[in-house]
Parts: sequence; C-alpha cells; structure tokens
Amino acid sequence: MAIATINPATGETLKTFEPLNDTEIAAKLDLAGETYHQYRHTSFQERSLKLTKAAEILEQEKADFANLMTLEMGKTKKSAIAEVEKCAAVCRYYAEHAANFLADIYVKTDASHSCVKYQPLGVILAVMPWNFPFWQVFRFAAPALMAGNVGLLKHASNVPQCALAIEDIIHRAGFPQGAFQTLLIGAAKVANLMADDRIKAATLTGSEPAGASLAQAAGKQIKKVVLELGGSDPFIVLESADIEAAVATATTARMLNNGQSCIAAKRFIVIEAIADKFEKLLLEKFIALKVGDPMLPETDLGPLATPDILQDLDQQVQTAVNSGGKILTGGQPLSGSGNFYPATIIRDVPQDSAIAKDEFFGPVALLFRVPDIDAAIKLANDSPFGLGASAWTANAEEKQRLIEEIEAGGVFINGMVKSDPRLPFGGIKRSGYGRELSIQGIHEFVNVKTVWVK
Ligand code: NAP
Repeated sequence: MAIATINPATGETLKTFEPLNDTEIAAKLDLAGETYHQYRHTSFQERSLKLTKAAEILEQEKADFANLMTLEMGKTKKSAIAEVEKCAAVCRYYAEHAANFLADIYVKTDASHSCVKYQPLGVILAVMPWNFPFWQVFRFAAPALMAGNVGLLKHASNVPQCALAIEDIIHRAGFPQGAFQTLLIGAAKVANLMADDRIKAATLTGSEPAGASLAQAAGKQIKKVVLELGGSDPFIVLESADIEAAVATATTARMLNNGQSCIAAKRFIVIEAIADKFEKLLLEKFIALKVGDPMLPETDLGPLATPDILQDLDQQVQTAVNSGGKILTGGQPLSGSGNFYPATIIRDVPQDSAIAKDEFFGPVALLFRVPDIDAAIKLANDSPFGLGASAWTANAEEKQRLIEEIEAGGVFINGMVKSDPRLPFGGIKRSGYGRELSIQGIHEFVNVKTVWVK
C-alpha cells in the first residue's frame, strides 16, 4: 500500500511519502539502540515530567491533531477531539502511576534480601492501525517510555501525517530523538525488522493476518509479542433490561468510529420476547443518523477509511443477504465520491452460518433473536473472537452468569465496551493475547527479574 494521505470523504490524494530505504531504516535502528542504553538510566521523575508535557501539548493542540485524523481516516471531528483528550489522559495516568507499578516487590525468603525487580527490555516495535491513529499509539508509547523502553512506530500506511505528528509531540515533550521514532515503511519490511537484534519485542494492533505474520516472525527469533486483533463483540439484551438505554448505547457502540472499531458491538443478541421493540427502536435510531462530511459537527457517520474497506463490507453484506439475512435499513454503498456506507441493520442471518461469525468493520449491525439467556450466552461465545462483550439486564443472577460465562477479554454489564487507562484491555481466542493499559499493560514489556542475595 502506498504511504499517502487520501481523504476518505473525497477520494483526493493530498500527500504522498517516499518509504524509508534500508540505509535510513538502519540509521534509525542504530539511534534507537544507542538511545536505549542512556535512556534506561533516566529516573521515573524525569520520564514523568516529559510525559506530562506530552499530555499538555496534546491538550493545547487537540483541534489540529483531530483535523489531521479526520483528514486521513475520516472519523468525525468530534470523535477525533475526544481521542486526543484520551491520549492526554493515558499520558497523565502512566506519568503518575508508573513508578508505583514498577517498584521493587520485596519477598521474604531464606535469603538476606530477595525481591522482584522490573527492568526495561529495550527497543520495542509498534505496528499500529489507522482506526484510532493517535490512541493506539499513545496507549503503547506512554507505558513503554515510562518503563524505560524506547519505541519504533510502523504506523498504517494511510495515516503517515498522524505518525509524524506523534513523533513530533514526543520529541517536543523532551524525550530524546531516539526514544521514539516513526518508520515510514510498508508492511513487507516488518518481518525483517523482527530479525534485527536491536528490536527486543513487538506489539501489533490490527487484523488477524497481520498479527499471525508478526507472531510468526517474532516466534522465529523467540521475541515477545502482544497482539490486539479483531473482534465481533456481542451485545446481549435480556428481558429485564432498560430497553431505551440499551438501544441508545447500542447505536453508539455500533457506530463508534464510523463502525470501524475492534470493540464496536457487532452482533446484537436479543431475547425474543423484547426483540420486536428493540428492533423498532434501533431502526429509528439508525435511520436518524446523519451521514456526511466528518469535519462538520452535526455529522454522526463519516466515510469508511479506504475504498477497500468499503468494498469488503459491501461484499460481506451481500453474503449475509445471500445466506438468508434481511436488510431493515441501508445495505448499499452511497453513490458519489468518498467511501460512504449507510447505517445498516440485517436480521435473520442464520446463526450457524460462516458470515455470522465474521467481523463487520463498518456501520452494519447483525440482529439475532434467542429464546433465553442460555441461548444468548451460547451464541455470544460461538465466535472465533473474544475481545469484549456488552450485556444488558436488571437481574443480579443473570449479571453473574454473564460475567462468569462469556468468553471475552472484557464484559461490560449495562454499558458499552470501552477502553480505560485504569483497566486492562485485550482479548482471547483470535482477538489476540497480552494486555494493554493499567498495571498489566506496563508489565508486558519489562524483564521481571528475580533478585536473591545471601
Ligand atoms: P491491518 O491491515 O492488519 O493493519 C494494521 C497494521 O499492520 C498496519 O500498520 C499495517 O501496515 C500492518 N500490517 C499489515 N499486514 C502486515 C503484515 N503481514 N505484517 C506486519 N504488519 C502488517 O489492519 P486494518 O485492517 O488496518 O485494521 C483493522 C483491524 O484491526 C480490525 O480487524 C480491527 O478489529 C483490528 N483492531 C484491533 C484493535 C484491538 O485493540 N484489538 C484495535 C483496533 C483495530 P500497512 O498499513 O502498511 O498495511
């Protein structure tokens, strides 16, 4: 894929970038390696001051950064602003808590002194997606830098200006040049990077094929990897639920980021007794959404990020219909320029069909009806993915069953699945492994060193 800014709302190519050649890549690796040996000895206090400065830059210039995201990948300007604010929050969170999370833990043994020590690993490669171009990077960079690691970013090829802006923010915050560098390179270069001795570990957020490819390259070198991959999160509505609240949240949860979020609710599983009401209210909400220019404040649903994503989604919808699904609204790409797809609801897709298990990466909701909670949990778990799950009920016993029995990295009762710096984030099954955020996130890229002294 060319490294370029192409406005998804118009299809216009605004800027193209020459990928780095091998000599340029080698120079950045050298700088990262050299910087690590100095940077790892900086104090938590020093790192924390710099990360707080990064938060200030993000807050002060959030309108500019939000514009860049909207321009490159089409998310609505209002959601882009919220994303920049969240990046500032994750910087402040780790600036405040990292020293505590990585403090030595003393353990009483037969030694005169024994403890667990957390030490940085070195240069970490981050392969990141375009869908949250700032958030995905900062949620990696903030804990990695606080732990004393240095980062190399291979961002998605369609958000190069976001990638360069992030590098600039981190440098302006006072981190050394080599502590965080953007590599403008294509995906084909990643496997070779994993073979380089200077890179000690990697994290990838993206599709299953990309994750599998990185894990394979890392496996050959015995290097640690964290993978945050796709999801087809269930959104379960049981009979006692507050249906109006569930429908309002269902709409937000499906349309988040123009439907292109790993943790968007994708499969709506509703108890038969309340399904007609849920369906009618959801339809009203979807029809009322305003599709259009993502820069305008009144827009609810902007374009998809690339023509390929639009084409893939269109193909999936056609497959769903050919498998027996019925379109309640939407179902066809919008005519005109830009990658616009309308809010779409499909019901009656056979629950055991292959397409029912696919990830729909766009504003398409699959609606399933089930007789009871047993069937709801069974269908929720009948997925290759296990990222998040949202479930709605007022019944205490049902809440407990949902928490215990749903197979996912996170279960949210009476609320939508979301990431929060204070809580770990990640998946099971084909959604990946490892965790980001919270104390678990900062522990992924450290050497847990046992110390025993007699
Ligand atoms: P993608 O094609 O996998 O791209 C993600 C990143 O991986 C990009 O930087 C891409 O580079 C790179 N890449 C692609 N193929 C690669 C390979 N074979 N080896 C190494 N790197 C490779 O993903 P996407 O389609 O843009 O993103 C959507 C997917 O990401 C969805 O499945 C979504 O659910 C998932 N996602 C997951 C999370 C999570 O936290 N679990 C969050 C957001 C998104 P190029 O751009 O140069 O191809």
